[in-house]
Amino acid sequence: MNKVSSYWEATKNTKSSYPKLEGNFDSEVVVIGGGFSGLSTAYFLSKKGIKVTLLEQSSIGWGASGRNAGMLTTGYKNSIASLSKKHGKNNAKQLLDFSKDCIKLIDQIVKEENIDCSLNYNGGLKLAFKKQHFEDLKNEQEYMYDNFNYETKLIYPSDMNNEINSPIYKYGALLDSNSFSFHPLNYAIGLSNSIDKYGGIIYENSKVVSLTKNKDEYVVKTNEGQIISKNVVIATNGYSTSNVHKDLTKTMMSIDSHVITTEKLENNTLDQILPTNRVASDTKNFLYYFRKTTDNRLLFGGRVSFGNRKDSQNKLELYEELRKNMVKVFPNLRNADIDYKWAGTTAFPMDFMPHVGKTREGVYYLLGYCGHGAAMSTFFGKIISDSISKEINIPDSLNNLKLTKIPFHNQQNTLLSLAENYMKFKDIIS
Ligand SMILES: Cc1cc2nc3c(=O)[nH]c(=O)nc-3n(C[C@H](O)[C@H](O)[C@H](O)COP(=O)(O)OP(=O)(O)OC[C@H]3O[C@@H](n4cnc5c(N)ncnc54)[C@H](O)[C@@H]3O)c2cc1C
Repeated sequence: MNKVSSYWEATKNTKSSYPKLEGNFDSEVVVIGGGFSGLSTAYFLSKKGIKVTLLEQSSIGWGASGRNAGMLTTGYKNSIASLSKKHGKNNAKQLLDFSKDCIKLIDQIVKEENIDCSLNYNGGLKLAFKKQHFEDLKNEQEYMYDNFNYETKLIYPSDMNNEINSPIYKYGALLDSNSFSFHPLNYAIGLSNSIDKYGGIIYENSKVVSLTKNKDEYVVKTNEGQIISKNVVIATNGYSTSNVHKDLTKTMMSIDSHVITTEKLENNTLDQILPTNRVASDTKNFLYYFRKTTDNRLLFGGRVSFGNRKDSQNKLELYEELRKNMVKVFPNLRNADIDYKWAGTTAFPMDFMPHVGKTREGVYYLLGYCGHGAAMSTFFGKIISDSISKEINIPDSLNNLKLTKIPFHNQQNTLLSLAENYMKFKDIIS
């Protein structure tokens, strides 16, 4: 198939459509962005009976939330040991706990709201791309167990064939049985149904073009309407633009990730290459990630390019590069047709950590998941909702993470091209 089109879009549940914002309204909270971050915030607020309005520039789940690999994995881009070194042991422990809690929270919501999104509880593998990377995984496993009693399991090279059959991944892996997978777009659709059920208001095709403060209230404008609100939550992540909030946008690099999905494969092909049906990603900077789908396809994703962000999602040669990478990982798939290909945008702050908080003028934000936000974004939405309803303050470990502006942010494409070469070089030498 030569067209860019998403497997999740092709297999989504029936979705309600929501109107465009037209006219002037008010609300207690306006949430900008209809991905997991915004949906979760609006879900928890509407459940508490707080008047919330969500504005999405396209349709629900249109951004990274409806395009990701649906891998709900524990941990962060940074290792827990390195977080402990940088932010102290107590903060690292809290961050580790959150990364487990966020996964449980999704499970709980899906069950409570009866969301049909194909949960699969088979655990997740972090695959060592090099021998030295397995030593790093061993250190992380030991650190988490010795310090926080957190159990993960090392898969030694001799046992790798029980987990994956690939000439690339033979150095070992770390198994976290808490990780699991779902159909991301169906989860987003399920959340929007629940917001609607609890009385939250959703507008689609309603792009926020300006956000201003007038005394104690915010004025949120789209081209055809406006909402006056006491609170505003920015949940636009990799799709953030400076007309909504200039300073926040400068704290993140927006980076694309590409995904392909094969035709339906014979059962024994997949059983052979991924016998335990776990989600998997590797230890490279330009990482690969993959999983089975419920209808026996291999979904394979990865970073192919950092630069030229604007057109990377439609560049067919990048998907072909990804297919070649997939064949290097699983040579058995050399003749498999690719039925779907698509991409989405992620957000990376300077410290490679997700951030939740409030700006100086009092706007809430949740962002910067570094490609790990499928689970954490739901948890952050709950934190914001609890913070708005004054049930809790933002926890210290998250509050202590400082969001800083990226120097020369307006030269983003040049910076990303430099970063791409640096990361590729690091993947070769490390
Ligand atoms: C290809 C790919 C694969 C990934 N795989 C995984 C994975 O397997 N596991 C994992 O943990 N993470 C993964 N991620 C990352 C994960 O998808 C994100 O971290 C998460 O979805 C972020 O959710 P979000 O709601 O913050 O942002 P998004 O889902 O991107 O939502 C932001 C929304 O804001 C809207 N918006 C922007 N500006 C405006 C405006 N002015 N007015 C109104 N609306 C606006 C956008 O249209 C968009 O819908 C992947 C990401 C990509 C792109």
